[in-house]
Amino acid sequence: MTAERINGKAFAASLRERVGEHAAQFEASAGRRAGLAVVLVGEDPASQVYVRSKHKATVAAGMESFEHRLPADTSEEDLLALVAQLNADEAVDGILVQLPLPGHLDEQAVIASISPDKDVDGFHVTNAGRLAVGQSGFVPCTPLGCMMLLTERLGDLSGLEAVVIGRSNIVGKPMAQLLLDANATVTIAHSRTKDLPSVVRRADIVVAAVGRAEMVKADWLKEGATVIDVGINRLPPAEGEEKGRLVGDVDYAGAEGVAGAITPVPGGVGPMTIAVLLRNTLVAAYRNADLQVPD
Ligand code: NDP
Repeated sequence: MTAERINGKAFAASLRERVGEHAAQFEASAGRRAGLAVVLVGEDPASQVYVRSKHKATVAAGMESFEHRLPADTSEEDLLALVAQLNADEAVDGILVQLPLPGHLDEQAVIASISPDKDVDGFHVTNAGRLAVGQSGFVPCTPLGCMMLLTERLGDLSGLEAVVIGRSNIVGKPMAQLLLDANATVTIAHSRTKDLPSVVRRADIVVAAVGRAEMVKADWLKEGATVIDVGINRLPPAEGEEKGRLVGDVDYAGAEGVAGAITPVPGGVGPMTIAVLLRNTLVAAYRNADLQVPD
């Protein structure tokens, strides 16, 4: 058996196209473009790449992108003042502060200062609470993207056994909550879980969000399981290579022979994250303008 390869890249492209159409409709109804403000503090190279691609994708979708680049030694007071200004700015529908922040800044305090109705990353405690009690808010982009891929592939998830490996606030926990909302039977595994392979073996759905290269092996999987690999890990370069290969948390080559469907790395979950960010920004714009959010 060879698993179906879940093409997150293609799904993300079609989502971005739909967001683009809705962004044009928003502009026609509201008389302005939907706007996303991205704040980057410091010069972390990976963060710079993410911020650049978010900017390009926002503009490509027909939305306004406001970039704020601050020096690494920016004080918390100045950062909070910028967030307050963005909260009050009617041209800004979504605010994203790129993480990680330099060590002297308190990430939780900064996230807490973002208006929950502009928190398109879904990291504010109000949005985490809304998700926990089933109210509409903003859901973190990566798990929401995983959920879209799962429902596209499986339809109704009711009664399915789902195992989420990882319990971070940005991926594992919200992922588990979304699966629970969809009536799956959910187990959250983590570094203290005993006998992880046998926990994973009972899953119809496996979501791996750990950050350990190729940790999940083929013989951990139930035949036909749907596997969503969130992990992004760079292997050390092989002989003659300049950079090591990117791999997920799942041993793809082995898992392909057992799973029913699996997301590749790269080209699976990764591209969904930015596409969902654009979708969340558009939803924020419609809500802020008191307009009906399109499906
Ligand atoms: P964190 O480091 O915050 O969380 C990792 C989780 O994995 C923790 O809950 C940890 O358990 C658990 N864990 C660690 N080791 C083991 C183990 N041996 N067995 C079982 N569980 C273990 O990571 P994130 O949630 O932020 O990210 C996870 C992965 O997803 C990373 O590779 C990251 O790069 C990737 N990622 C990809 C995104 C995308 O767009 N595709 C977006 C965000 C993340 P414990 O809590 O007990 O320490």
